Amino acid sequence: MPKPLIITVAVTGAETTREQCPGLPITPEEIADDAARAFEAGASILHLHVRRDDGSPTQDKDIFAKAIELVRAKCPILIEVTTGGAAGMPDEERLQPVSLKPEMASLDCGSCNFGDEVLLNSLPQMRAYGKLMREHGVKPSFECFDLGHINNAKMMIDEGFADPPFHFSFVMGVPGALPATIKNLRFMVEDIPEDCLWTCIAIGGKASTLLHPEAIALGGHVRVGFEDNIYLGKGSIASSNADLVAKVAGMAKAAGRDLANVDEARKQLGIRAL
Ligand code: ZN
Repeated sequence: MPKPLIITVAVTGAETTREQCPGLPITPEEIADDAARAFEAGASILHLHVRRDDGSPTQDKDIFAKAIELVRAKCPILIEVTTGGAAGMPDEERLQPVSLKPEMASLDCGSCNFGDEVLLNSLPQMRAYGKLMREHGVKPSFECFDLGHINNAKMMIDEGFADPPFHFSFVMGVPGALPATIKNLRFMVEDIPEDCLWTCIAIGGKASTLLHPEAIALGGHVRVGFEDNIYLGKGSIASSNADLVAKVAGMAKAAGRDLANVDEARKQLGIRAL
């Protein structure tokens, strides 16, 4: 019997705009309100990016601190900050939120094309990120955008940058990286070490519709939210992140899989309560 499903909600991201998605939360206040609604709908992890007031992406530590403070005041959802930031940001900028000691942080496990841009993550960069996360007691989520990235994550594990249970995030459907197919998802799952957790991140509505039920059936976990996909159904834009979370919660129910609350997610991830 698979363990209860952990739903991560990625409410904002770095690229989605208000023009594309009117319900996109931008300010720390809006992010906290939206995270609380997503928590009520069944999410147990918040994947957090922040923006400046004009909507542009930033890794500014003060804005992250404000968002984290407001989220924590509203709900006990686990917080995973991004260290991917936006394409082209230097390491010092990307790493800023790690020192705020959130429960988790994403750690990009390699380089790849990202639409018209390029994500650059060399092995020395990955080690520096892993070292800082370890120093601050932050659990890395190994973000793999391509098959070879799993090998890099295994290297990080072998070199002692994380404690078990290890958590992988498979990002599928980024233009220029691994296509979002069931065959590719199964291949990724087979390639990671045993007893790891993994979360499926499907980019776009079509990829989400295809891969979320498969991830639930395979015993994996699911991330949703406006960072990854703005569509609730074909041609219909979700009005809030909570609606996207509720959709996945409904899929889990239909598949007979329980949802993880925050305590259960902490237990599965090996993260102690604050
Ligand atoms: Zn992100």
